[in-house]
Amino acid sequence: MIYKQYGKTGMRLSAVGFGGMRFDISRPREENAELVRYACSKGINYFDTAPGYFDGQSEEIFGMAFKEMPGEYYVSTKGMPVFYDTADKARKAVEESLTRLGTDHIDVYHIWCLRKMEHYELAMRKGGQYEGLLKCQEEGLISHIALSSHQPGADIKCMVDDAKVAGILLGVNLLNFPYRWDGVQAAFDAGVGVVAMNPLSGGLIPQHEEQLAWMAGPGETPTQAALRFVISCPQITVALNGFTTREQVDMACAVADAAQPFTDADLARVRGHISTNLDAACTACGYCDDCPQGIPIPSYMQYYNNQQIFGSSDEEMINSLGFQHDWGLLATRKADADACVQCGQCEEACTQHLPIIQRLEKIAGWEKAKV
Ligand code: SF4
Ligand code: SF4
Repeated sequence: MIYKQYGKTGMRLSAVGFGGMRFDISRPREENAELVRYACSKGINYFDTAPGYFDGQSEEIFGMAFKEMPGEYYVSTKGMPVFYDTADKARKAVEESLTRLGTDHIDVYHIWCLRKMEHYELAMRKGGQYEGLLKCQEEGLISHIALSSHQPGADIKCMVDDAKVAGILLGVNLLNFPYRWDGVQAAFDAGVGVVAMNPLSGGLIPQHEEQLAWMAGPGETPTQAALRFVISCPQITVALNGFTTREQVDMACAVADAAQPFTDADLARVRGHISTNLDAACTACGYCDDCPQGIPIPSYMQYYNNQQIFGSSDEEMINSLGFQHDWGLLATRKADADACVQCGQCEEACTQHLPIIQRLEKIAGWEKAKV
């Protein structure tokens, strides 16, 4: 196992972390707790959960595991500013998590689910969540405060430059890194620990290994390549994996044991496949991102990539819109796809010569069908 510094905290975290959002809760609780202990025995020392995972059951499973888990390890959980919008509510949430986790402190507490700057501002306002967390920190209930964000790179830079947190949790993987990298680099440059969520693109990569064979280097699968990417990046401290089985733990640990960094040539190969073999996929370069109507074109084109790359059906695209609108790529949009007035500016700027207007028309149809 590789261990890396988590920002300036002095904590050395395992490059593979255990995310508690993919337990098989149809199993007896003790089996899931045993999986946590097994991961710890393999060298994993970072365990991340949230009160919203399985309605608090994820925190309770970790709590059950921790009772009989020897060694030094770190515990992370979260609270949303939209729910805990005062210092008192934030403190109560920390106390409730501590009870479920059965511990006397939390190592990293995340201000959770930031999708736009207003969420960050809500957490940071006088008398708000951050103030409550600072008080908890003074009293030793939590060690470090971090952010969990789904925002673009410019927002990430703004927040980490504000210098109020020790770490940040971001969704980054081998398929979306051109889009996410600004944020990762900004956090790393600010000396903030970076934890990567969704290293397997929410399961898309293992589910489409055949179509994504080009991601892999010699002797590895696309899933292993995707894990190797986040595990070996110096800018990323921990790749958070949602584990269900021992085999998944073994595979991730084996990748970490043998991790060879992605070379520039590897990255160029991946970028090349995203832009050429996958014919007309958006590379998230951002050159088109100046729509006078306020349409977030790179985000819409990244979403469209799901059909382009994975051949998702129209129905699947419509079904995923709820997530994309509320939590995903489109959560911070100022305008929907149907706001396009076909001025042509973006197509002029597009490095991939994509038919953006035509794609937006198709997406507008999906957005209409969703309503
Ligand atoms: S063509 Fe449409 S999406 Fe492109 S810049 Fe003009 S209004 Fe925006
Ligand atoms: S310029 Fe083209 S390839 Fe680049 S982000 Fe915009 S749509 Fe994607």
